[in-house]
Amino acid sequence: MSEVRNVIVIGSGPSGYTAAVYAARASLQPLVFEGSVTAGGALMNTTEVENFPGFRDGIMGPALMDEMRAQAERFGAELVADDVVEVDLVSNPKVVKTADGEFRARSVILAMGSGYRKLGLPNEDTLSGRGVSWCATCDGFFFREQHIAVVGGGDSAIEEATFLTRFGSKVTLIHRRDELRASKIMQERAFADPKLEFAWNSEVASINGQDQLESVTLRDTVTGEERQLDITGLFIAIGHDPRSELLAGQVDLDDDGYVLVDHPSTRTNIPGVFAAGDLVDHHYRQAVTAAGTGCAAALDAERYIAALD
Ligand code: FAD
Repeated sequence: MSEVRNVIVIGSGPSGYTAAVYAARASLQPLVFEGSVTAGGALMNTTEVENFPGFRDGIMGPALMDEMRAQAERFGAELVADDVVEVDLVSNPKVVKTADGEFRARSVILAMGSGYRKLGLPNEDTLSGRGVSWCATCDGFFFREQHIAVVGGGDSAIEEATFLTRFGSKVTLIHRRDELRASKIMQERAFADPKLEFAWNSEVASINGQDQLESVTLRDTVTGEERQLDITGLFIAIGHDPRSELLAGQVDLDDDGYVLVDHPSTRTNIPGVFAAGDLVDHHYRQAVTAAGTGCAAALDAERYIAALD
């Protein structure tokens, strides 16, 4: 039977690594499961990050995550590039399983993030960070005075499109239907915006460009006709899914699958189980906010363990 750890962290984005740094510096010797394919989290898929404090010239996403990882390791966090496949968080100690073994801990920090929904088109991943983006707050600034398109029809797509009109010379909203799902007030604001155009009944058939996005091919969802839209920025705003499948039936989730915590703490409904980052957060979804709640989760875990002793 494995030893009982103080803290197991599941996840390796800004929230997981920050939790690991704080837990390690509190001498809790955290064990961190980073994931097998996606270790480092969402920023491994991007290029320049210009809004993480402390880097005046910006930093490449993977370099930022390497620094966070090395910082956690420097203080004694044990990092394992493996996926957690099952958890029993209700038992004491808590049990965390990978394909290779079973691990036990007094507390668990959940930091598995969430995934942006993708269109599922061939060039989508290769041009990510090269014109294709999922985050207007992160990347809008790179597209000043350029023609940008946004895919989606809900509130968040309209919010992204309206926000992007601050930067782009023109923003085209691509929507499969001939009306929006977004709330009335957001629609009115969007229709009144002179920089915002609508490509109704349209879906993206292909994303075009070699090293940089050059255009998208739009297909009319009624007639099947295709046309090319020359753009340098494509923002995909069709939603995101929190990675909370492991937790079903144990940790309380909201209707969209995000972990519910007792704000402003990171406590879940299960004593000793804390959650941080995009797994919890519908609203801000930034590296710095994920890091902030990762810090809070480690402090919450530290206090929980101190109270047990
Ligand atoms: P994530 O970064 O998603 O990390 C979670 C990680 O946990 C997963 O990737 C995986 O490695 C691991 N994991 C998941 N499930 C398991 C499991 N079962 N077992 C083990 N490990 C698991 N934000 C900014 O502030 N500035 C930017 O410029 C910026 N640019 C972005 C560009 C792109 C392309 C994307 C996709 C996002 C960008 N963001 C940016 C948003 C930012 O990346 C996220 O808000 C942040 O990474 C969330 O951190 P997190 O720790 O909650 O989760």
